[in-house]
Amino acid sequence: MSSINDNIQFVSGVGPKRAEQITAELGISTIEEMMYYFPYKYIDRTKVYSISEIHPDLQYIQLRGRILEFKYIGAGKGKRLTARFYDKTGAIELVWFKGLTWITKTYKTNVEYVIFGKPTLFSNNINITHPEIEDAVRFEKSLTTSLQPQYSVSEKLKAQFVTSKTIRLIQENIFKQFVSHIHESLPDFLLDKLKLTSLKDALFQAHFPQSPEKLRNAQFRLKFEELFYIQINLLKQKAFRKGKSNCFVFKKEKDNLTKQLYKNLPFQLTNAQIRVLGEIRVDFISGKQMNRLLQGDVGSGKTLVALLSMLMAVDNGFQACIMAPTEILANQHFKTISRFCGEIGVVVRLLTGSTKKSVRKELHEKLQKNEVNLLIGTHALIEDEVKFSNLGLVVIDEQHRFGVAQRARLWQKNEIEPHILVMTATPIPRTLAMTLYGDLDISVIDELPPGRKPIKTMHFFENSTLSVFGFLRKEIAKGRQVYVVFPLIKESEKLDYKDLEDGYAGYSRDFSPPEYLISVVHGKMKPAEKEIAMNLFAKGKANILISTTVIEVGVDVPNASVMVIESAERFGLSQLHQLRGRVGRGADQSYCILMSGDKLSNDARKRLEIMVETNNGFEIADKDMEIRGPGDIEGTQQSGLPFQLKIADLGTDGRILQTARHEAEMILKHDLFLKLPQNQIIVNQINKLSNNEINWSRIS
Ligand code: ADP
Ligand code: MG
Repeated sequence: MSSINDNIQFVSGVGPKRAEQITAELGISTIEEMMYYFPYKYIDRTKVYSISEIHPDLQYIQLRGRILEFKYIGAGKGKRLTARFYDKTGAIELVWFKGLTWITKTYKTNVEYVIFGKPTLFSNNINITHPEIEDAVRFEKSLTTSLQPQYSVSEKLKAQFVTSKTIRLIQENIFKQFVSHIHESLPDFLLDKLKLTSLKDALFQAHFPQSPEKLRNAQFRLKFEELFYIQINLLKQKAFRKGKSNCFVFKKEKDNLTKQLYKNLPFQLTNAQIRVLGEIRVDFISGKQMNRLLQGDVGSGKTLVALLSMLMAVDNGFQACIMAPTEILANQHFKTISRFCGEIGVVVRLLTGSTKKSVRKELHEKLQKNEVNLLIGTHALIEDEVKFSNLGLVVIDEQHRFGVAQRARLWQKNEIEPHILVMTATPIPRTLAMTLYGDLDISVIDELPPGRKPIKTMHFFENSTLSVFGFLRKEIAKGRQVYVVFPLIKESEKLDYKDLEDGYAGYSRDFSPPEYLISVVHGKMKPAEKEIAMNLFAKGKANILISTTVIEVGVDVPNASVMVIESAERFGLSQLHQLRGRVGRGADQSYCILMSGDKLSNDARKRLEIMVETNNGFEIADKDMEIRGPGDIEGTQQSGLPFQLKIADLGTDGRILQTARHEAEMILKHDLFLKLPQNQIIVNQINKLSNNEINWSRIS
């Protein structure tokens, strides 16, 4: 007897070859995985058009009729197959460019078919290219109702004749063969309490909805379940961490360095910074490991919070480190932090990919002898040779750029795991935070240092370049400096560098020595060259810094008050916001100028509008998620969400997520170890999921 854990080849009508194709392209191998491969949309198939009603403006339509005859047209590459398809009211042309022989073998003349496709007008005739064709008798018997599921398949699969329809037929056969194998995965009390559809019904309705309402209920249940199990895992993880009582205690009475630094500060901490430091302090004296996410908009002063936290560790005889995603940023942190620490006698060192071997060796030794208090660097910190004497706190800046595994290696450097502070500069939407960092405590700096004038953001089309240049000249005359950023998108690196070079040429014509000095930074430069170029700008010698997105994160030049973003339509929202955050750090009025071509997609126009409208990073993060969905949120793509959501959407299912988190909290509150019989089903499901792709223990 087969089971739903078997390979899909055992579903009738699939077989080994097709199974292999599907696995290769969609990553689905078991029958159960296929059951969880949900349609991306449903098409209303109640309406059958008459051929006389067709016009080329119609979207996908359904016709019922017969094929009169097949005809080959053309030769060689242009060869195609056509068929006349008729009903009582008229006839149209069906056209195929691929799989011609297979089509003529599979479909017969004078058999009644239901066909489905999009009508187009071609040399005055209406035709349908590559229609979906189904035997009319079979169509009536199929499980499909008015809402026909559409499954996404790759181009490659289509070329192998595995289409949305193929997947649908496979789903039908799965339900016919395996419906009795579907076992409930949520406890009864939850089904009752939230009036959830059973798993069996929900899966069926998700593929073959009998009504829009049933589909909604099915989707609710499946989304709830997906989010519920994520939350229960995260919350368990969090509770267990808090249950462990073996982390370092940083006693407050020892806070000498922290106090000294505080006294030397040229400004007052903001209330938000003070509140967050208080939250961190509570963790430090709790005896339990801190796992805290620090969110704050660009320029909100996270670095200082990190430094004060690190000094609490040093005050208590521990070392601390901060890991940044780029060398430029690590350098920047090193400079800022050294400046603060020089006065109070704390030893700060830098370690990056370009640190010389001899320096490294000496550094490794000093680290082990506790002769270095603070280590700042890039992912070079996680190399095995880097060993601390007693690492008490790890700070990870701009955390989403580091892969899950990379991060885990840092906190395995001690026998006892150090305290962890994760900082994100890109505010992330609440739903995403709850899912990505649901096992962390979250602190938010929701206030900018006082005296900052909100940045003015303007959007110009490229034909306004001259007046923009005029504006830049005025700002430079006031002593301000200007960033100019060109996009760098991996797919077309050559093109991008061309943009940068052309752009540089354009700027240098109008801004030439001796009056002006332009500095250039891009990813293809050696670190030393970058350093020189950055320094020219940081020291105020260059008026303009032209760069690709290497300056995206963390760079701090308070005198720079204008950010020009070229081809702004090619950037994502959070990236634009990040870039804008490079200015507005001094006391002067700052500007962000978004330059774009005049042909803008709807999404691009929306992004630029949002940028002009608001300076609030959290608002932008939410809008970003609405426009693009969570899978595309800046950064999460690189390191990846630690899991893929099959049905829930963090952009739109915030309410379901709240419910799921609440229910998970309630259950764990009463039964943390899930020992009650009513929770057994949850334990089983957790075990089952953990055997699949997700490694929950390290998702932060
Ligand atoms: P973030 O990392 O959150 O983007 P930074 O830590 O780089 O921000 O801080 C931005 C700038 O604001 C730095 O120049 C920093 O010295 C300054 N700053 C930080 N806190 C304050 C404060 N409370 N008052 C005035 N300036 C501050
Ligand atoms: Mg920063």
